[in-house]
Amino acid sequence: MIVMKSCPRCHGDMLEEELLGEVEVVCLQCGHRTYPEIQTRRPVPAVRMEKKAA
Ligand SMILES: [Zn+2]
Repeated sequence: MIVMKSCPRCHGDMLEEELLGEVEVVCLQCGHRTYPEIQTRRPVPAVRMEKKAA
């Protein structure tokens, strides 16, 4: 997901990425990184994929 012109440094386009359950926003122009949901950070990523055969 790309967020247009939201970089606080250069006002460039930022790409929203998800790594191990954490959301990270990286600027495509200058490489500036922000972590909008850092407060929800946990040592062990929550596993929500429970696949059980019916
Ligand atoms: Zn930038």
